[in-house]
Amino acid sequence: MDESAHILDGGNALRPQKRIFLGLLVVTCLLFTAILGVLWYVPYIGLTSLHPRLPLILGTFFFVLLGLVFGIVFILAFTVLLGRDLFFSRKLRGVVIKLLLPLMSGVGKLCGVSKDQVRRSFIEINNQLVLAQHPRATPDKLLLLMPHCLQFHECQFRITGSTLHCKRCGKCPIKGLAELSEKYGVGLAVATGGTLARRIVVERRPRLIIAVACERDLSSGIQDSYPLPVYGVVNRRPHGPCFDTMVDLERVEWALKNFLIPNNEVQSSRFKVQS
Ligand code: SF4
Repeated sequence: MDESAHILDGGNALRPQKRIFLGLLVVTCLLFTAILGVLWYVPYIGLTSLHPRLPLILGTFFFVLLGLVFGIVFILAFTVLLGRDLFFSRKLRGVVIKLLLPLMSGVGKLCGVSKDQVRRSFIEINNQLVLAQHPRATPDKLLLLMPHCLQFHECQFRITGSTLHCKRCGKCPIKGLAELSEKYGVGLAVATGGTLARRIVVERRPRLIIAVACERDLSSGIQDSYPLPVYGVVNRRPHGPCFDTMVDLERVEWALKNFLIPNNEVQSSRFKVQS
């Protein structure tokens, strides 16, 4: 499926990126089942000598544990496939971020899947879980967080302090992003690295972030910012990493429209508070 079709369907289709993460999850479940099976079977003969019911108790415990793991994986898979908040998608995002990403990186290595493929897949799954939560924010609480490598390498204007310094010459995507920021009234910040990105988030206190970066920086940014919802868009790197990178502005705008509370709703809620 091409990118525009993906944007139109809200990212619900099972793209290859998502398939990698879900596939690795299935492999992990099978490995987990095999390990528990061995753990139960090996002491099976010896356990009866301690207590005749011990194998049954241990077997039941392992069975319940497996049920729990498979249950979480099923809920995760259906949330991703349907794009709807079935049960506690916010907590699910926590499980994916804190537990499954490191685990999947390890299993991916065993299966010959590169780190960046796992990260890309993780970002897609994270986006799907964020969409399933249906978070909405007013323009002042939504932040567009961009990497410095989007800026044209010969540009002399310093935009990390303020993107207002951009002269909008059109030589890099900052022009389009500045226009989106102006059109929707949302904040736009450019960070040179993870430390500055974290500082910007602390200072601006957004409720929702649309972030653009490479797979590595986006994954760590999503992890660092949790429980804050971060919708990630991976940049394109036609000239290699960290150099004159590009971003799909259409996708950023789609995300903006999806997460922003429309102006008329903001104004009517303000009017209600005043009256
Ligand atoms: S669009 Fe802005 S940031 Fe990009 S090269 Fe032109 S002036 Fe510099």
